[in-house]
Amino acid sequence: MSGEKLLDDVAAEVVICTRCSLWKGRKNAVPGEGDPQARIMLVGEAPGSSEDLKGRPFVGAAGQFLETLLFQIGFSREKVFICNIVKCRPPRNRPPKPEEVQTCTPYLDRQMKIIKPELVITLGNCSTAYVFSKAHLPLAGITAVHGKFRQATLDGVQVTVFPTFHPAAALYSGKYKDQITADFELVKKELEKRARAK
Ligand code: URA
Ligand code: SF4
Repeated sequence: MSGEKLLDDVAAEVVICTRCSLWKGRKNAVPGEGDPQARIMLVGEAPGSSEDLKGRPFVGAAGQFLETLLFQIGFSREKVFICNIVKCRPPRNRPPKPEEVQTCTPYLDRQMKIIKPELVITLGNCSTAYVFSKAHLPLAGITAVHGKFRQATLDGVQVTVFPTFHPAAALYSGKYKDQITADFELVKKELEKRARAK
């Protein structure tokens, strides 16, 4: 079966999912979207209000900044895969609870196994903590671990994990905006290095 069909199957399950209580507050679940053969997968935390309204990831203000960052590294949102740790919006945008993360992440795990991305960019503490724990990488806060490439195996898939701050942080702090921009510059350099090595 094609990756596209398998991803459609995951999305079809997500939009009717009631496995944790977050379904009760949603207008739309947000499975994630992008290229089934993407080299880069970006993992955020949870849908916000714009995403909940549209059923699509990163379509609000944080999403606009994310698109600029993707442009900076020579990608458009259609050429990557963008999704979140949990697929339904938590009440008042509170962080997802551990049991919600545990219940929802089998969907993310399936998406990762279908896409087999070369690079997984985790956006913020929540997605970094999940991916690091799955990859048995030693976790510290995002300030300590951001901006470094780490090799990891996730469900048998070899990936490079690259954590950075959540793009929403850039909306209230210029300092974070600069740090995320600098991190994406490192991604650009790494991709150029890999292209030369081919
Ligand atoms: N913040 C996230 O973590 N994910 C989205 O999809 C939008 C905002
Ligand atoms: Fe299902 Fe995930 Fe939504 Fe919970 S957050 S209802 S597990 S899709």
